[in-house]
This record gives sequence, C-alpha cells and structure tokens, in this order.
Amino acid sequence: MNISIFVFGNDKFIATLPKEIRDTNVFSIEMITNLNEAVSRIQNFPPDVILVQASQDGSMELCNWLKEQTKLSWIYCILLEDRPRLVDARTEQSREWELDVTCTALRQGADAYIWYSLEELRNYPNTKNVESDISHRLLLAQLTVGFRKAQKYRDLIRTNDVLSAIALADSLTDFNNRRALEWELPKHIDKARTTKKPLSLIILDVDYFKRVNDNHGHLVGDRLLQLLCTRLRYNLRYQDTPFRYGGEEFVILLSDTTSQEAYTVARRLNHVVSDQPFAINSNLKIDITISLGTASLRAEDDPEGINLLDRADRYLLQAKSNGRNCVISCNNSSTSSVSNSHTPHLRVVSS
Ligand code: GH3
Ligand code: MG
Ligand code: MG
Repeated sequence: MNISIFVFGNDKFIATLPKEIRDTNVFSIEMITNLNEAVSRIQNFPPDVILVQASQDGSMELCNWLKEQTKLSWIYCILLEDRPRLVDARTEQSREWELDVTCTALRQGADAYIWYSLEELRNYPNTKNVESDISHRLLLAQLTVGFRKAQKYRDLIRTNDVLSAIALADSLTDFNNRRALEWELPKHIDKARTTKKPLSLIILDVDYFKRVNDNHGHLVGDRLLQLLCTRLRYNLRYQDTPFRYGGEEFVILLSDTTSQEAYTVARRLNHVVSDQPFAINSNLKIDITISLGTASLRAEDDPEGINLLDRADRYLLQAKSNGRNCVISCNNSSTSSVSNSHTPHLRVVSS
C-alpha cells in the first residue's frame, strides 16, 4: 500500500523531514503552499496524514477547516511548530507556557503538535542535536498513529459498504429489498419535488403464486421468482428501480415518469410476463400472470411516500378483484386487461 502524506509547507520545511519519509517509496508525498489549493486537493484526494508547517500562512485555518469537515475529519493532522517567535520563546518559558501553547494548537484542530526548529533541523544529522532528534522521533511515531487511524477508517468504510449492500439487497432475487425502498422513496420524492419532475410507481403481485408452491414445491417457487425478476429487470428502463416489497410482490420506482407513462410501463410488464412461460428446467415450464397498480406523486402526498404506496396498493387490490392479469392506472382507475391469450391464472406447460 502506498501511504499518502500531504504537506502544507515550503521546500525548506520538506528538506528537514526525516529521511525515513523522504527517501522511501512507501510514502507518496505531495506539497502545496497555498491554502485554497490545499483545501481543494484534500477534498478531491484525501491523504492518510497531513503535515502542517505552523509558520505557513493559513496553517491554523487549514487545521480548523479539516476538523469541521464531516467526511475528512478522520485525517490525522500533525502541526509542526516552527514559528521562530514561539520556538525562541520556548527556551525561556515555563512548562505551563508550553502546555498552554500545545493545548491551544490541539483545540484549534491539530491531532498532534510537535516543536520543530527549522534552524536546528537544517544541520541535522551532521550536528546531532537532542531536540532535533526528539522532533524527528516524535514525528515518526505520530505518523504511525496517523497511518493506523487511516487504515482503520478505510477498513470501517469497506465493512460499512458490505453491510449496507447486505442490508439493502434481497438474497433470493438480488433486487433491492423493502428496507431499501423505505430509504430510497423519500429521497426520490424530495428530488422530484425539488426538480419539479413527475414521479410514479408500480406495485405488482404474482397471481395465484401459492399454487406454484403447492403444485411444485418451494424450490420451484423460488426459481420462478428469480426468473421473473430477471425478466422484469430486463424490460425496465434505466430510470426504473425495482424492489422486492414482500414475498411475490414488487415495487418499481419510476423517476421522471408521468402517470400515463407509468401506465404504459405497467402494461408492457404485464405483457412480457404473460406472453411467455418461465422455463424452470428442461422438463418444466410454468405460465404465470401478474396484477399491477400504478400511482403518481401528488402535491398533497406525505414526504415518506406512504400515501403514494397506499394508492398504488389499492389499485393493485382492484386489479386482483377485477379478475387479475391486468393494470389499474392511477389517473382513471380504468381496467385494462391484456388480451385473453392466457387465462389469468396459473397454467403449467410440461414438455
Ligand atoms: P393472489 O393472486 O391473490 O395474489 O394469490 P397468491 O396465491 O399469489 O397470493 P397469496 O398471498 O395467497 O400467496 C402468496 C404466496 O407466495 C404465499 C407464499 O408461500 C408465497 N411466497 C412468498 N414468498 C416466497 C418465496 O420467497 N418463495 C416461495 N417459493 N414462495 C413464496
Ligand atoms: Mg400473489
Ligand atoms: Mg402477495
């Protein structure tokens, strides 16, 4: 792993860093002297550790800014105190004074504060100086702390990504699950309202699915659900997001889609499911149909999407009571059955 160190300081400062940092390929070091450039660079390419030369203009602002950034505050920031006024005063001042100065720096955003006399370090190690040696050893130790922290943070983010994927995916169908819908729907509603674009959704349920399980067993039922999801996904547009809402019930979020367009999408899905049987294996093909309800976002709907889902669900119930294998649209509640080339219930085709 290449460890990245970002240095906010000048050339002379870099030249005084320990050779363990400068002369190896383990670290990638980048240096910037301007505050605005430093901020934008850190935002775009967060390093593992930041070294800040205190005498550089904007040094305290940078430490301060970093710790206010929710997504960047984990970066370990080491402030190296080279301001001649303070470095010189230190030899004459008390331990309390030194403690006060250190506490102020830590409070202002540094994670570590190290006295760093450029004057003495420039000749080091030719004239071995105890203070310079202490500064370097402390710096190397603090870098280890920073790298450890960066490693832990990155592991945490990776674990978090894996856990989120597990928590939001349905293991049988690979569709997003109901929890994902509860997470996504308010965001879609907010976006639709902000951008003043329409938002619709479809709820669909397999007709007489219980009979599949009863006649062929749950494993065949499971396989059928997987095949159904593959077919649905294949027939959706890029802006449509499918979710497994319950057992054999699915919700499809249709961004930037009017109620009329949602109806068209629902009709298409209705057809693609009923038009061809699902091949479970070489000996067994099963015909199924689905019932669908659609609804579109209204101004008076709640931001969580409960009203929207409820309306679509009521249309789905109507589709069921109207004989199944049909779409009930939100705007006219008119029934639109697909052609009766298939009966709206389970038909098994054995070859
Ligand atoms: P309707 O047309 O009214 O929807 O009839 P239905 O038989 O589809 O509806 P019902 O709700 O009575 O039954 C749904 C069935 O789906 C019951 C349940 O055993 C089955 N099911 C739910 N989840 C799964 C699953 O993950 N795998 C399998 N194999 N079956 C499931
Ligand atoms: Mg059903
Ligand atoms: Mg159901």
